[in-house]
Amino acid sequence: MRVLIKGAGVAGLAVAHELAVSGIKVEIVDTASGVGTGASGFAGGMLAPWCERESAPETVLTLGRRAADWWDAALPGQVVRRGTLVVAPARDGAELRRFASRTSGFEWLDEAGIASLEPALAGRFRQALFFCKEAYLDPRAALTGLHRKLLGEGVSFRFGAEQDEEHPGFDRIVDCTGHGRINLTKDLRGVRGEMLYLQTPEVTLSRPVRLLHPRIPLYIVPRGNGLFMVGATMIESADDGPITARSLMELLNAAYALHPAFGEAQLVETGTGVRPAFPDNLPRVFESDGRIFVNGFYRHGFLLAPAMAQEVAEHIQTPGMSTAYPTLKTLRHNPREGVRL
Ligand SMILES: Cc1cc2nc3c(=O)[nH]c(=O)nc-3n(C[C@H](O)[C@H](O)[C@H](O)COP(=O)(O)OP(=O)(O)OC[C@H]3O[C@@H](n4cnc5c(N)ncnc54)[C@H](O)[C@@H]3O)c2cc1C
Repeated sequence: MRVLIKGAGVAGLAVAHELAVSGIKVEIVDTASGVGTGASGFAGGMLAPWCERESAPETVLTLGRRAADWWDAALPGQVVRRGTLVVAPARDGAELRRFASRTSGFEWLDEAGIASLEPALAGRFRQALFFCKEAYLDPRAALTGLHRKLLGEGVSFRFGAEQDEEHPGFDRIVDCTGHGRINLTKDLRGVRGEMLYLQTPEVTLSRPVRLLHPRIPLYIVPRGNGLFMVGATMIESADDGPITARSLMELLNAAYALHPAFGEAQLVETGTGVRPAFPDNLPRVFESDGRIFVNGFYRHGFLLAPAMAQEVAEHIQTPGMSTAYPTLKTLRHNPREGVRL
């Protein structure tokens, strides 16, 4: 069997991996010049289903809790399992309690607990939530790592493809083109996410830290060597243009509130990704016109691509077989929430 995958973002690469390990011949085409130019290259890489449960349905936790193991198996050594720390300025203690009331899998930390986990934050916050089971990875390293691994598994890549080109000679086509499907797939919308990279030797963090704020919730993910990814805005728009002055100011203000040394950091990169999302903000796998579509990863591409990729591989190898993921099966068969094009 020969399968063509359109899109070399995290969705396309994860599907390719699942198919390749099952012995299926795969080719990936992408209109861009390489991997990671879409939303995937701007992600935080947090595998944080317990924290995400604050604003996401239970499905995200059910499917996402296996993601770290999948990434570990696919790319040994890239997943960092040190949990997530969630803090709030003293005046926003209510935000921390609200976050706690909507999540599970955490413990409360006091000042001493915070200092022992993250010495750089000693004395800066009175309380925190620690989600010890969460993990993260560097998305750019993961995308290039998966690209390299897939090449070794015999998957062929063609970059710089035409937008609408025909693909004869394949048994199945899987469309993983993310926000490229906005205006083509019914109900798919874009959620703009702006982020930046700061570099400073003055701050050391060992894990992602989320700073709660009623207006500008922020997270900082350490990338090593004094580099930090700071994200991210959530704006209902499919505009992937450069970061706005306002978003830049808000992200920098929030980073400064987390630690004043970020005020002296070098701003080494800004970027914008468009998260593809359906109205329920859950990803979907569905067929239309003989093609399989995998889309709508919203904030959860790295978290949920493994589960969706496994579903696609299962579907391709055993068409008509019921999925191993009851929640998605329910979604697919629920006429109110079901798949529409
Ligand atoms: C700032 C930010 C932070 C995020 N943080 C996290 C996080 O911490 N954890 C997490 O799990 N998720 C996170 N996300 C979400 C995650 O990045 C997305 O859900 C994910 O990248 C979507 O992946 P995708 O493969 O569907 O789309 P994309 O990564 O956009 O890939 C789509 C690919 O399709 C290609 N393409 C488009 N049209 C065509 C065509 N016609 N033919 C061929 N190829 C085409 C594009 O060039 C692109 O390479 C974040 C997103 C943003 C923006």
